[in-house]
Parts: sequence; C-alpha cells; structure tokens
Amino acid sequence: MPELPEVEITARRLHTALAGATIESALAPGMVTMKTFDPPVSALAGRTITGVRRIGKMPVVDMGDVSLLIHLMSAGRLQLWDKRASLRDKASRLLIRVDGERELRLREFGTKQRAWAKLLPPAAIDSDDAVATLGPEAWPAPDPAVFAELVRQPRHLHPLLRDQRVIAGIGRSWVDEILWESRLSPFQRGSDLDEDAVERLRVSAAQVLGGALDHYEQVIGETVPDKLPMPLQVHRRDGEPCPRCGAALQSVHYKDYVMTYCPEEQTGGKVYKDRRLSRLLK
Ligand SMILES: [Zn+2]
Repeated sequence: MPELPEVEITARRLHTALAGATIESALAPGMVTMKTFDPPVSALAGRTITGVRRIGKMPVVDMGDVSLLIHLMSAGRLQLWDKRASLRDKASRLLIRVDGERELRLREFGTKQRAWAKLLPPAAIDSDDAVATLGPEAWPAPDPAVFAELVRQPRHLHPLLRDQRVIAGIGRSWVDEILWESRLSPFQRGSDLDEDAVERLRVSAAQVLGGALDHYEQVIGETVPDKLPMPLQVHRRDGEPCPRCGAALQSVHYKDYVMTYCPEEQTGGKVYKDRRLSRLLK
C-alpha cells in the first residue's frame, strides 16, 4: 500500500510531467470509482492541469477551479503512461488523456474496486471528510506539543500510528520502521510514553519518512514503477538479524498485516506469540 513517501514521490513526478498539460478527455471505467457526479469527469476535457500534490496518502490533481482528490486504498496506483490504455484493461479505474498521447491512469490491482476519486472545488477539498478528519502530516515533523497530545492515548503504538485521524501518512510498512528507529515496542501504549519517548517517536517518524523520500528522489526516474524500491530495514524481515544489534527480528502476523520488531531493542527481550503460527499449530 502506498504510504506518505510513495504518494509524495508520485505527486512530485506527476507534477513535473503534468503541470501545464491540457486534458483532452477523461473517463471512468471503474463503475464505482467516482464518488461525485457533478461535474462529471467528462467535463475535464479542455482544462489545464495546474499541479499535482499530496494530502496524507492521497494524491490531488488540481485543474484550476476543480480538483481531483484520489484515495488509492490498498491496491491503487496513479501513473502517467506514454500510450493510452486498451479499454479492455480491467485494472483501469480512471483515465485522463492529456496532450502528447499521454494518459494519467488510476489503476487498481486485484478484483476489488475500492480506490475512489472525487471532483471538488479546491476550497471544498479541505472540508471533505477524507481530508478534514486527518491528523497532522507525519512528515515534515509536526509541532511537538500537537504530536504529544495526539499520541498520548491508551492505545498500542502500532495501530495508533496507522490511524490517519491521529497522524497522516503512516501505514503498515513504515510503522514498523518508525517504531524500530525509535526503539519503542509496538505493544506499548501511547499514554505510557515519557516525554523523551514521545519526542523520539516524533523525530523518528519524520526522519524515516523523509529518508525514504530522499531515497526515492535518488533512485526513481521520471516514471514511478508499480512496485517502489522501498528502503525497508525491518518490515517483513523476521528471522533476519537486526541491522543495528544483530538480534533475530520477530514478527506477529495479523489477518491484514505483519508486525516486525527487534525483541532486543524494542520489547525488552520479550517475543510475542505469532498468532498465525499458534493457529496453525492448534
Ligand atoms: Zn536490534
């Protein structure tokens, strides 16, 4: 799933390629993709793309007096193609054809149609539910006092940091890296953190996400690939040595995600039961 660094690099590359481009036509092959109906996507023909940016994990395409807010969900990708898609491409959800035979394409892998888009006046973007409910951006680092208040909740850090209403931009991959960087247990509660730990977490989050973005700036050319070269150090690396202390990394598998941590540095030596394994062993 694209998180803050992946969506930010996508928005930057698209902005460079598309700012000033004229839209020739637009259509939505995804039957349930568009969550707004007035104006219809076809009304984008003739407009100029003024910019592409990001809010949380959502890309936004600005076109003067109307903006397209996109939620990629878990399997969506927004990419610019040199050639136009065959209408038989079942992954296509939204096709925006721009000058030079190019096409900005929202595609979604898998059979589910969950990615969505809304066409809104720019002033309505910030008040849209998907945006208005977001916490502050995790990168650049939020204000210390604001962050401390948001994080001090009686919830485990792993789900807390992935909650977009608490802080925007972190998902299942980068949360492992951020907690490892902060040397904090995913099972620790936000309300139990002392001042130093809260500050370490705030700074680590911005460092990890900013570091990933710097990495993408170095290695990604004009086009963002389907699968980004994510510079992950611990996520999904259970059994491998911790890059810092050498202890074997551990994982807990949940239905929708895997949590990876270093028992030596994050959980005081405690290895948590892997629910997937314990279920298999029953
Ligand atoms: Zn370690």
